[in-house]
Amino acid sequence: MLSYEKLLVANKDWANKMVESDAAYFDRLSRLQTPEFLWIGCSDSRVPANEITGTQPGEIFVHRNVANLVIHTDVNLLSVLEFAVEHLKVKHVIVCGHYGCGGIKAAMTKHDFKQVLNMWLRNIKDVYRLHRDELEAIKDQEKRENRLTELNVKEQVMHLAKTSIIQRAWKKEQRPQLHGWVYGLKDGLIKPVFEMGADTHIDPLYEYDDL
Ligand SMILES: [Zn+2]
Repeated sequence: MLSYEKLLVANKDWANKMVESDAAYFDRLSRLQTPEFLWIGCSDSRVPANEITGTQPGEIFVHRNVANLVIHTDVNLLSVLEFAVEHLKVKHVIVCGHYGCGGIKAAMTKHDFKQVLNMWLRNIKDVYRLHRDELEAIKDQEKRENRLTELNVKEQVMHLAKTSIIQRAWKKEQRPQLHGWVYGLKDGLIKPVFEMGADTHIDPLYEYDDL
């Protein structure tokens, strides 16, 4: 059997099992989704949102990209964010990075990854530059990468707070809460590193007062 054919066989098994344990499972799920969480995670195959949080289809709305970045010109991410916040009314937005992230490691090198990846990784270099003193005081390379992973997550959460999408929901509905988490590939555990709620004030330069 070819590798991709195994996926299709496994899919049939899974669908059958779900119906065996709950005959109305797909019928119910197909009618509506009311997830409480938006997950912005890394594309890394080892960090699947549902599995590591013990959640089921229908519980988490997911966006993933290399190194879980929130970039204000990324129409894909902003569409997901706007839909999740304004239509699905999610209560929590989670940015989840992970230790051992290839994107973080790559951004710390001087290697030319060609234009598109260079452009993407430059956003992580910007985070490094903002925290250069703290990072360069850490001599151990892995520890430095781990710290940049945490700082990156924090910066991406702050980028969320700068959007009118989040600020409008905070002002009108006192939600969603924003969370920055880091997942450990070596122990499977998630470490919360940063939080922002509807009562948080950010640099006034980024605050809209006529939402
Ligand atoms: Zn990653």
